[in-house]
Amino acid sequence: MGIERGEAFVLRVRDFAESDLIVTLFTEQWGKRTAIAKGARRFKSRLGGVFDLLNRVEVVFYAKAQLDLVSQGALISSYSHLKGSLATVLTALAVCKLLDSLLPPHQQESGAYTIFMQLLDLLERGTPHGEQSAIAAMLKIVSVLGHRPQLAACVRCGNTRGPFRFVPARGGIVCAKCEGQGIDISPGLALSLNALIDRPLSRAGIVRLTKGDLSRAREVVSLYVRQLLGSSNSEL
Ligand SMILES: [Zn+2]
Repeated sequence: MGIERGEAFVLRVRDFAESDLIVTLFTEQWGKRTAIAKGARRFKSRLGGVFDLLNRVEVVFYAKAQLDLVSQGALISSYSHLKGSLATVLTALAVCKLLDSLLPPHQQESGAYTIFMQLLDLLERGTPHGEQSAIAAMLKIVSVLGHRPQLAACVRCGNTRGPFRFVPARGGIVCAKCEGQGIDISPGLALSLNALIDRPLSRAGIVRLTKGDLSRAREVVSLYVRQLLGSSNSEL
């Protein structure tokens, strides 16, 4: 690889040295890359404001084994409406953090890229189902990355009736007859979450979840992601 040009989302930004930024980008074509944007924090830098968190950018960079070097960057969208609400920003950042933690470096992940873009577009348009859409996006992303949780039947015996617990270490739900330490999840909620994985993200709002369901779903997703990170020894 030499010089590359393409689209990316900004997943993480850190200050470096006097005036540089180290940015973690989720590029459409080359997956997750870490790059240095020299002088980006300098007053009047051409790169100023381009590499803010959750921005969608066009970037030109020199690909290197470790740290890529950004040579140009331009804003495609800063999702200004989304960023007008703290709650929505936190919702989007949870998915951003999941991508930063779970994406393997330098590997194209078109499925996850598309899901993230669809989510940010939905949040930017002010969907009334923002949180539910974010949970759906997270479940869809872990699934396209090869870690789809088993939510249709007990992972041990295949029982579909429940009652169930979600057991992160087993990658899905386990019925009361089969052992496993986890969190209680109703058969209905397990099916709803399963439906969220298969349904287009734009239709995530059609699955009816109560406030209690949503908070349980958040818990399930976050425990599951922690389990995935633990087993791959990635940093959180
Ligand atoms: Zn069972």
